[in-house]
Amino acid sequence: MHASELHRVVIVGGGAGGIELATRLGDSLGRKGRARVTLIDRSRTHLWKPLLHEFAAGSMDLDHHALDYLAQARWHHFRFQLGEMDGLDRWRKVVQVAPTFDEDGRELISRREIPYDTLVMAVGSQTNDFGTPGAREHAISLDTAAQAERFHTLLVNACIRANAQPGPLAPEQLKVAIIGAGATGVELAAELHKTTRELVAYGLDKINPEKDVQLTIVEAAPRILPAVPERVSKAAAELLRGLNVRVLTGERVTEVRRDGVTTAGGTRIPAELTVWAAGIKAPEFLKDIGGLETNRLNQLVVRQTLDTTRDPDIFAIGDCAGCPWPGRSRDVPPTAQAAHQQASHLAHVRAPAGGQTDHALALPRFRVAGIVRGVLHNRQPDGRAVRRHVLRRGPVRALHVRLALSHARLRAARLRQDAVRHAGEAHHAAHRAARQTALAAERRQALRRTVECPPDSLRVPNIMKRAMRCHDFGSGREASRSQYLEYW
Ligand SMILES: Cc1cc2nc3c(=O)[nH]c(=O)nc-3n(C[C@H](O)[C@H](O)[C@H](O)COP(=O)(O)OP(=O)(O)OC[C@H]3O[C@@H](n4cnc5c(N)ncnc54)[C@H](O)[C@@H]3O)c2cc1C
Repeated sequence: MHASELHRVVIVGGGAGGIELATRLGDSLGRKGRARVTLIDRSRTHLWKPLLHEFAAGSMDLDHHALDYLAQARWHHFRFQLGEMDGLDRWRKVVQVAPTFDEDGRELISRREIPYDTLVMAVGSQTNDFGTPGAREHAISLDTAAQAERFHTLLVNACIRANAQPGPLAPEQLKVAIIGAGATGVELAAELHKTTRELVAYGLDKINPEKDVQLTIVEAAPRILPAVPERVSKAAAELLRGLNVRVLTGERVTEVRRDGVTTAGGTRIPAELTVWAAGIKAPEFLKDIGGLETNRLNQLVVRQTLDTTRDPDIFAIGDCAGCPWPGRSRDVPPTAQAAHQQASHLAHVRAPAGGQTDHALALPRFRVAGIVRGVLHNRQPDGRAVRRHVLRRGPVRALHVRLALSHARLRAARLRQDAVRHAGEAHHAAHRAARQTALAAERRQALRRTVECPPDSLRVPNIMKRAMRCHDFGSGREASRSQYLEYW
């Protein structure tokens, strides 16, 4: 079949759901030339979002976990387009992509339209501060790698400042308030407990982590991790308390200030750093995009088969999809597991040439459990993993394994990318070294000739000309032939 007649599958967003889908469809349809799979993302590299709290806390290095979309696309038979989607023309079946600029503000790629036959939206979500006064100005959210890096810098600066200051600490100093005890908040708290102690161990010894550092989690619901079964939530709360994390439940934050937060019950929590992790919403540009149905969180409303309610050729997966949860009164929760399961489901959807898309596969039941991974895994102060039996329960463990496998696949891709890059670098280094040796030999040859020639010969390089004229290598005497050679 001619390339221009191939069914065009366009996936927007290469996050937890999008990159998995692009990779799997590329391997199945792209490799066999049965469809043209294109992934669009506003970043050049993929970063697995559930790791962001670890980057923020500083326990992981961003650079070691980023996966290059271009390389992944090359290996898995899909195309990658760098750019940010900002519109959709459903009637002409094109995705509109904003121009891309480089770090200096110069345009790299101009505004363009990318045509599709099947479109999958996987643009994820962003923090929802529900318009709480002061949240936008004073709280940090963890939606992107840049935000995680910023938080980490602020945390290290706070520790350095506290360690260097001669006087006593201000009430808010070294206090961190985390708003929201969902996956992000709970895992961040556990991670920060570890990092602050590590920082002190690196020499900031004027700080007493037990006394000076205070982590507080504030949750409006009656318990932490409201989306998981109660027994898991209880186990996580127990562990957090064991880590000296203050857990406030049933408290809604009504204001964020530079030096702390206030709750509806009037509790004032001093904090030098406030992290907002209390809710999500899909990106603003999705609201009513192309006349599609969206909910109050800007999510595209989809059926259980993941196709949008008003257009069977447009699908949505992950955090940006408002998908009914079978047997529950609410939607599927915004987790990496859900994104992974939805990507797996769509990967089985065949894109027939010119025909109706077949998506009869039943959507699996969603369970949430992996989010407590961070808390339950080796988080006791003495290093032992407690309550391991919580993890051993069948469905919980199965989901852990699936999520871990999905992440491991991406990690393996990243390692492969590193290996290829290193092999490439080694090849270039060898080539450079050989070239330099050849050049050095050429120069020595040239020098032998030039030293025997008049000093102002045009063949003598400028710097040598100067050296030959002034005859001065420190001693003031005329330079010898061997000195010229050495100098060169
Ligand atoms: C700190 C933290 C910890 C978490 N821990 C867990 C956990 O332990 N377990 C769990 O199950 N879930 C966890 N989650 C939730 C999980 O990360 C998300 O549910 C999951 O990443 C959603 O996947 P997604 O594919 O929908 O979107 P994302 O992974 O967010 O990816 C969206 C992608 O779309 C791209 N994009 C966005 N807008 C555009 C646009 N306009 N044009 C082009 N590209 C665009 C982005 O660059 C990004 O690559 C955590 C989340 C956070 C923030």
